[in-house]
Amino acid sequence: MRYFEQHIRRVTPYTPGEQPKEAKIIKLNTNENPYPPAPGVRKVLQELDADLLRRYPDPAGEPLLSAIAEEMHLKKEEVFVGVGSDDVLAMLFLTFFNGDRPILFPDITYSFYDVWAEMLRIPYETKPLDSNLLIKKEDYFCENGGIVIANPNAPTGTALDLPVLQEIIERNRETIVIVDEAYIDFGGESVVPWIREYDNLIVTQTFSKSRSLAGMRVGMAFACETLIRYLNDVKYSFNSYTMNTTAIVAGTAAVSDRAYFEETRRKIIGTRAWTADKLRDLGFVFADSVTNFLFVTHPVIDCEALYTALREKQIYVRHFSKPERIVPYLRISIGTPEEMQTLLDAIKEYMEERGAL
Ligand code: PMP
Repeated sequence: MRYFEQHIRRVTPYTPGEQPKEAKIIKLNTNENPYPPAPGVRKVLQELDADLLRRYPDPAGEPLLSAIAEEMHLKKEEVFVGVGSDDVLAMLFLTFFNGDRPILFPDITYSFYDVWAEMLRIPYETKPLDSNLLIKKEDYFCENGGIVIANPNAPTGTALDLPVLQEIIERNRETIVIVDEAYIDFGGESVVPWIREYDNLIVTQTFSKSRSLAGMRVGMAFACETLIRYLNDVKYSFNSYTMNTTAIVAGTAAVSDRAYFEETRRKIIGTRAWTADKLRDLGFVFADSVTNFLFVTHPVIDCEALYTALREKQIYVRHFSKPERIVPYLRISIGTPEEMQTLLDAIKEYMEERGAL
């Protein structure tokens, strides 16, 4: 083997949900928002002066940074923006998980965490969720190099009680606790205000879900000024201009329209409650979700086979073959009421064909 072949950084990459090209597919597999971005986003994109693109964008992401800070009632020195929360999380891992002790996260959570840890050679340990797919807080009371908790968790869709999360942060003042709030706007309670109290807490959020901007790639982190400074030092040592001009103007327009944000998230929460009732009527079993997806299983139906059957009917949901414990589950994103009706009809038909109804 040649020298370079022996020294390639070999990684097993994260597998994103499929992005099929056919327009008529009902796509409930990547937790995207079924509604378009705020009307102001379309307007600023249409009016964007291409001449602006001659220039580099603002390296800190202004004016988006200030718009987010204002919306969150924070100083802009407490905010960091990046190319989706994936970029932000990768920078956080790179900046803060640089020691010998293992970082901790649950066995069933966002499947990018172990990919970043592997790629950056960060030691890590996963802690099994309990039989209700919830975190056992005691698992996080041991010596560690950092903690990552998605709250609400993905793909389970449930949130931790805030006193539990607080206890985990309290007991780990020596290490950084990242709380990934990608789905917080669909019913969870954010811990962003806690960054003023805990200088070891970093919270991440995204514009990909509740702001309908997955394609634009906008994510952010909130932490005390000192941590944001460390994060910026690493970011500027890697790539100063992560956010492009278009994403900055689109993100700024999205964050400025609170009424539209409230309206779309309310619609999604309503569709989630309605879909959950219908799925329970069909015998599906699942915890109450505070996200824009449901993580469901069925005592009789083989969910992996159902996943394949739905795919044949051009309805895409997400099935995970790893870890093994979640093979019997499907993760179904909340679409429009019409999309959910089509999904429910297809599931019903599938069950009737098999005498399962
Ligand atoms: N965290 C969690 C828990 C997620 O499910 C996702 C979406 N795949 C992300 C972060 C990243 O989202 P984005 O990069 O689009 O902001």
